[in-house]
Parts: sequence; C-alpha cells; structure tokens
Amino acid sequence: MERWDLFFEIHTGETREGPGSIETTRKAFSYIEGIDKNSAILDAGCGPGWQTLEIARLCPARITAIDLHQPFLDILQKNANIRGYGERFTARKLSMAEMDFPEESFDLIWSEGAIYNMGFAEGICEFRRFIKPGGYLAVSEASWLKPGAPDEIREFWDAEYPAMDLAGNCLKKLEAEGYESITHFTLPFTDWEEYFNPLKGRVEEMIRRHPDDPDAKKYYDMERKEYYLCDKYQEWFGYVFYIARKM
Ligand code: SAH
Repeated sequence: MERWDLFFEIHTGETREGPGSIETTRKAFSYIEGIDKNSAILDAGCGPGWQTLEIARLCPARITAIDLHQPFLDILQKNANIRGYGERFTARKLSMAEMDFPEESFDLIWSEGAIYNMGFAEGICEFRRFIKPGGYLAVSEASWLKPGAPDEIREFWDAEYPAMDLAGNCLKKLEAEGYESITHFTLPFTDWEEYFNPLKGRVEEMIRRHPDDPDAKKYYDMERKEYYLCDKYQEWFGYVFYIARKM
C-alpha cells in the first residue's frame, strides 16, 4: 500500500519496527565470539535501532548502523549519544543493496527484520562481501517452520512476502553462500507482541483521525489480520534468527 503518510503515522520509530526483544538480541549475540573494542559491527536496516543500542550495551565494538529512513537514524543517533555510545557509533543513510564499505571490513553484520527488503538469498550474498573471513552474520527473517501450512496463512504470506522460505531452506542457502551455520532459533511469540502491542494503539488512533479514508481502514484491517494470523499459526510460521560464520 503506497500511503506513506499513513504508514509513518503508525511507524513512528518510538518502538520496535519488527518482532524482537532485548532478550532475543542478547541470546543471538551470545553465540558470537571474539568481539572486542577493535571490532567493527554493521547493523543493516537498523530502523530506530532498539537492537543496535542493546548490541552497544553488550560489547565495546565500533558500530555502524544503516537505514533508508532518516527519521529512524536521527532517533537512534540521539539515543546513542544520550547513552554515551556516540564516539564509537555512526548512523548513515545508506541502502543495504548499495553498500560502499571496503570489502571484508566487519567482524559482524547484524540485521533484524530487514533482510527481506533485499530478499534472504540476495541479502546474505551481499553481506558476505563485507564480512571478514571467520566473521559473523546474525539475521532474523520471517520463515515457514514446516511445510504444508494451511491455506489461510499461506495465502496471506503469498500476497505479502511470496519469497518467504522454509527455515531449512534458509540454512541451505547460507551453506551454499559460503557460511557455516552456528545456530538458529525461532523468536518467541512475545517478541511479536513487543512489536504489535504499541502498533495496535497507533493504528487505532490513525483510524480515529481518518474516519472516512478507505486506505486508513485497509491499513487497520491489514495490521489486525497480520497479528491474528501470526498468533493463530505460530506452529507454521515465525521469525527465525540465523547465526552463521563466513567460511
Ligand atoms: N531492525 C529494526 C527495523 C526493522 S524494519 C527493528 O527490528 O526494529 C525494516 C527496516 O529496514 C526499516 O527501518 C526500513 O527503513 C529499512 N529498510 C528498508 N529497505 C532498506 C534498504 N534497502 N536498505 C537499508 N534499510 C532498509
């Protein structure tokens, strides 16, 4: 839906922009070894960067965060400064599809709920060029957890994100691109609630502000449907965190 005015009334950057939580970021980070103050980390598609701030809390590395939406970057930069991470932190408006960093410059590339913008296979291929040999990739991606999902959920995702694949196939893609999988795990449903709960309030406010706008109603219905389906079909579909190492 191309009503960005409505989209950004809902997506204000005050909260997470995808499923996730502090606990999940910590858990994923716990599999990464050897990060110290000389390490460089990239957070691609950082959004307002609630996970970026958590990574900064967890390690002393230099962190670069990129996103296409400047207001998110401004929120993140402000929060990084407030928390005293400013000197080792850079926020840049840059597409993950057009990265201009020197090759093999990062010890870790992180991306929560954003690689779908490039597609999983394209994304992991592009990221690999910028990871040092032996460095890490940590990405979360919407995935089918097993084959044969019921029509209701399959039809929804076929329309929203047709490229969504089985978790097992994502692991195969990682291997085919020259990564060794360290681990993967499904985000708990409470991570969806972290994303949806504040969003629900904003969607309801939006519809009150635009009672006669059919696009507002469409947005409202779509957000509610997504929540309902994610809840109902947890067994079949979820966000999976993939942690891998460049071989
Ligand atoms: N990681 C954040 C945001 C996820 S939402 C979180 O978990 O909360 C996806 C983000 O990807 C949005 O902030 C969007 O602006 C950004 N994005 C979309 N296409 C992009 C691209 N090509 N390059 C970089 N960021 C992109």
